[in-house]
Amino acid sequence: MGIVSTSELAASDRRVLWHPFTQHGAWELEPPLVIERARGTTLYDTDGRAYIDGVSSLWCNVHGHAHPHIDAAVRDQLERMAHSTMLGLTHPPAIRLAERLLELAPEGLTRVFYSDSGSTAVEVALKMAYQWWAQSEGAKGTSRRTTFIRLRHAYHGDTIGSVSLGGIDLFHACYAPLLFDSLEAEPGDAADMRRLLAEHGERVCAVVVEPLVQGAAGILVHPPGYLRSVRELCDSYGVPLICDEVATGFGRTGRMFACEHEDVRPDLMCVAKGLTGGYLPLAATLTSERIFEGFLGEPQEQRTFFHGHTYTGNPLACAAALATLEVFARERTLERLAPKIELLSRWLDELVAPLAAVQAIRHRGFMCGIELHDQAPGAQTGHRVTVAARRRGAIVRPLGDVVVLMPPLAISEDELRRLVEITAEAINEVARASLPAAA
Ligand SMILES: *Cc1c(COP(=O)(O)O)cnc(C)c1O
Repeated sequence: MGIVSTSELAASDRRVLWHPFTQHGAWELEPPLVIERARGTTLYDTDGRAYIDGVSSLWCNVHGHAHPHIDAAVRDQLERMAHSTMLGLTHPPAIRLAERLLELAPEGLTRVFYSDSGSTAVEVALKMAYQWWAQSEGAKGTSRRTTFIRLRHAYHGDTIGSVSLGGIDLFHACYAPLLFDSLEAEPGDAADMRRLLAEHGERVCAVVVEPLVQGAAGILVHPPGYLRSVRELCDSYGVPLICDEVATGFGRTGRMFACEHEDVRPDLMCVAKGLTGGYLPLAATLTSERIFEGFLGEPQEQRTFFHGHTYTGNPLACAAALATLEVFARERTLERLAPKIELLSRWLDELVAPLAAVQAIRHRGFMCGIELHDQAPGAQTGHRVTVAARRRGAIVRPLGDVVVLMPPLAISEDELRRLVEITAEAINEVARASLPAAA
């Protein structure tokens, strides 16, 4: 890549960067992969090597990289204005995108509140639900509804409010003293949700779920009908339902939103990751009119939602999101996805399921987790599989001992097949290396 060599970049990275979810002691021991360019569903490193983007650049790419329609929309917006504020002002891309999102979202959602990441979309939903109760109870300032029901192994982001609802001990246990109270429901078990609501419903301000699939938990798939049951239970106990569609939204499960599979209408819905097609950071919390109306009043009544991030509703990001939604229609993305979901399922059965190292495969739509058999502590099997996959030309990422495949919806059948093959080969290579010498 011209004057700056990969090794110089690698040395600088090690000197100045602190990477997310990364143990730097280990990071320094492996040569970093420096990605410089991307086209379609392929990433290119500084030495020109190509890799299939097997995790959609952390679950957010949808229509491929450098998509001409999205590129043009961002360029066009850039010529007008890169940023202006949503505090006291408004702008066309934010307005148009909100209209379009509400057309596509489950019925009953009528308002769009923007923020910048999945974590903030969840924070916003939590604060809205809490304040809505406080105001509907007529109490000044505080509510007797101070707790949330969340699912075991839940993941809703890394800010403190979202972490309070998180159930992944590895990420969250250390912060326990900083977190607010919440109640844990067993995922997929409607009876457990009923029990919690019956016992504690009076002090619960909302139930928060990742609909259908708990991504960061290792692609945990709920049994059919569970989401619908949770909705019905929330209705009978009068508790709002927050659906975190940050991972599942925008086609990941085969429908635009996971809620559609069970005809569920959440009271609040969080979206982020795929919203801009993987281009720019943007998130939204969609709410029902009932929630919105709970915040109306005279200014002196202090019913305002006092929350807003500086880059809320950034115009470039909104333009990318609007273009992303247009591409869904133009390219019939969801229609063309259905046969690819079938193929993915078949190839996983044929190529991955028979491997001795594989304990279980869980998938729904284009979200797939391959769980490897327990290894000795510190064996880093998942990580070693991703390194082996890289050498063969694919980027995958583990969650512990679960290898995640989450390709862009736009991936071709050939590339999809190649991704599954590479993953199978990588799992085999690592499994063979871990066997005792006699085998
Ligand atoms: C990734 C994720 C988040 C957090 O989104 P960020 O943009 O990383 O803050 C929240 N909820 C779910 C379900 C996610 O998968």
